[in-house]
Amino acid sequence: MSEKPVTVIGVRGLPLIRGGDDLPSLICEQVSLEEGDVVCIASSVYSKAAGHVLPLREVTPGERAVRIAARTGEDPRFIQVVLDSSDDILLEYPFVLSELSCGHVGVRAGVDQSNIEDGMVILLPPDPMGAADSLRQGFLDRSGRRVGVIVTDTCGRSFRRGQTGHAVGWSGILAIRDFRGDHDLFGHVLKITEEAVVDEIAGFANFVMGESNNGVPAVVFRNCPSWAGHDDLYFRREEDIFRKMLKN
Ligand code: GDP
Ligand code: MN
Ligand code: MN
Repeated sequence: MSEKPVTVIGVRGLPLIRGGDDLPSLICEQVSLEEGDVVCIASSVYSKAAGHVLPLREVTPGERAVRIAARTGEDPRFIQVVLDSSDDILLEYPFVLSELSCGHVGVRAGVDQSNIEDGMVILLPPDPMGAADSLRQGFLDRSGRRVGVIVTDTCGRSFRRGQTGHAVGWSGILAIRDFRGDHDLFGHVLKITEEAVVDEIAGFANFVMGESNNGVPAVVFRNCPSWAGHDDLYFRREEDIFRKMLKN
């Protein structure tokens, strides 16, 4: 465990991000990275830089999108983009809940209409793990520092009101800290606890970012302790009981 307190740095001073922008360079101009930092980046700005955005006027909604949109009261073209982003639809109403090819399950497939010009939508990065890898390499090239990267999105949760930040891609760190086999304070062996550390860090990053016009799409965590574990953040289909219930 690290002795130093964890420091959390919201990265201010970044411009409105456009297609082709080099996010690692822009971020390194604002903050001096250190070895072992964990850099969280909003998926929305990654997608804007990587060109995963599109104008709704170019979208022609199909029959299913029109049918769903009539029930949810949304723009059928927006629903078409959501369907196109999805691998498997788990729920159509009262909102579309779907699984993406990367394994992430989310409301409206994480497609956003905020923090972009009117009539445009922002898609989640189609390969968020690859996105995190390339950002990590970018930071290494620009700063010489090996950092961990988490690509985040704001997501709703089951059972509770309120959205929180979630990790949709990560690189250079393990998703899960595995406590199984450890002993608690009373010597009991822990059998179940796997802590989703990337989501915990993403949650606090999301708090620092804010949702509206704060203009802080990146957050650096310094002095995080290291952890042992694994990267199997997503349930396999056969073990995901909620997914099974929704599909039946
Ligand atoms: P998401 O959670 O990935 O969907 O992203 P949000 O739209 O919630 O934005 C997260 C943070 O990034 C907020 O502080 C936004 O104001 C900020 N943000 C979004 N787009 C930009 C941008 O192009 N430039 C800057 N500087 N900040 C942005
Ligand atoms: Mn989002
Ligand atoms: Mn957000």
